[in-house]
Amino acid sequence: MTNIDWKKVEEWDNKYILRTFATQDEYQTVPIESTEGDYLIMPDGTRLLDLFNQLYCVNTGQKNKKINDAIKDALDRYGFVWDAYTSDYKAKAAKLIMEDILGEESWPGKIRFVSTGSEANETALFIARLFKNRPNVITREHAYHGWTRGASSLTRVKGTRSGITETDPNTEQRHVPGQQDGVVAVAPSPNCLRCPLSHKYGSCHDETGELACVTYTRRMIENQGPEQVAAMVTEITQGAGSIHPPKEYIPQIRKMTKELDILWIVDEVLTGFGRTGEWFNYQHYGVEPDIVTMAKGLSSSTIPAGAVVVNKEIAEFMDQFRWETVSTYSGHPIAMAAVCANIEYMIEENLVAKAKETGKYFKKRLLELQDKHPTVGPVNGAGVLWMVELVKDAKNTPFIKLDRNTTHEADPSTFPINIINAKALEKGVLIGGFVPNTLRIGTSLDISKEDIDKAIDALD
Ligand code: PLP
Repeated sequence: MTNIDWKKVEEWDNKYILRTFATQDEYQTVPIESTEGDYLIMPDGTRLLDLFNQLYCVNTGQKNKKINDAIKDALDRYGFVWDAYTSDYKAKAAKLIMEDILGEESWPGKIRFVSTGSEANETALFIARLFKNRPNVITREHAYHGWTRGASSLTRVKGTRSGITETDPNTEQRHVPGQQDGVVAVAPSPNCLRCPLSHKYGSCHDETGELACVTYTRRMIENQGPEQVAAMVTEITQGAGSIHPPKEYIPQIRKMTKELDILWIVDEVLTGFGRTGEWFNYQHYGVEPDIVTMAKGLSSSTIPAGAVVVNKEIAEFMDQFRWETVSTYSGHPIAMAAVCANIEYMIEENLVAKAKETGKYFKKRLLELQDKHPTVGPVNGAGVLWMVELVKDAKNTPFIKLDRNTTHEADPSTFPINIINAKALEKGVLIGGFVPNTLRIGTSLDISKEDIDKAIDALD
């Protein structure tokens, strides 16, 4: 216990902070005094088991000692140096990602560090459009790629799009080829439960085996002219959209982007660094992307950090380009110290393999819930990322109907997820909300079986 005056904290918080995901009237203060492993601890000592890992961020667990010690050591030597200078931490963080994690793959060329996932996607868009000297980009329904201008134009989730992107001609950045006014086209998402093309999985392949949603995307790109399209951007598992693709979808998208000669940008902001039981989610599918974006688990979020890895060809091209765009905090030495310690800890503790094993137990326990409760619909996921849709009946009728932009007019108090969250909270378990019908479970990579049981019991 500390001698913090929590009444004052609440007063200042309510008076001065602009709210997120709630109006001021809806907002309920949940004061957190400290954090530990998979737990958030309230000022009265109540321990909340965090089943959404604070936005799927804290892969190596809250208040990880190795990361904290590394940060303290880094502070003994550094305040701040910007990206034009070299700190040992930045170079080592790059080496860890490029050699120790991605070393066996043939594609990776170079990396640029940034501070957030949105910024990583902005950077990827900038590079892709510059490299291809083409303006347009393909995204998908239900995508979430962040909230900044470029990233939000890729995002298809209610409330997150800034609404001033896409065809805005003022996006032209003089002197930078490929950065003129582009358009973002929206491809169907591989949502087999509620297929946007009204197909049924199993009868939606053509004679070559291509899925109808891939063929649709291919035609979309062919119709606008692939020579206008710089890249297609995809999450592998759609996080905010809670959509897990059928197994052939990702390899087919990779093949299609190669055939049409457009870049494939994979957003691993939520899924990177072991969350799905591989270092990166794309590695489940035996494919290699052209650009990968990352954040969250990169530093386990003790200090914000993001990054973009580009393929060898793009790296060679960028090496010839005087890139006069910088983010002040790119490669911040203290953040880089956190990244190094985070990755080293994951390697030493073999956490990625552990998350894969844990995934089997999560699945088993979630399927038990599905057997028991008609409201528990499809269970999808891997490692320590699981999505469970809550449904009205055996036909998987949704409680709240969502359109292709994940939009609805429902009152949040009627969301199944919020009703369950309130009940689980009484049992000391915190569940992330936002997607009205879907439980989106995320934990640290080494959550214990006891804590999984506690979570499942609360959900039960
Ligand atoms: N991309 C994905 C897949 C995400 O889940 C998120 C955040 O949740 C982002 C991008 C944006 O990252 P940030 O909030 O760090 O800007």
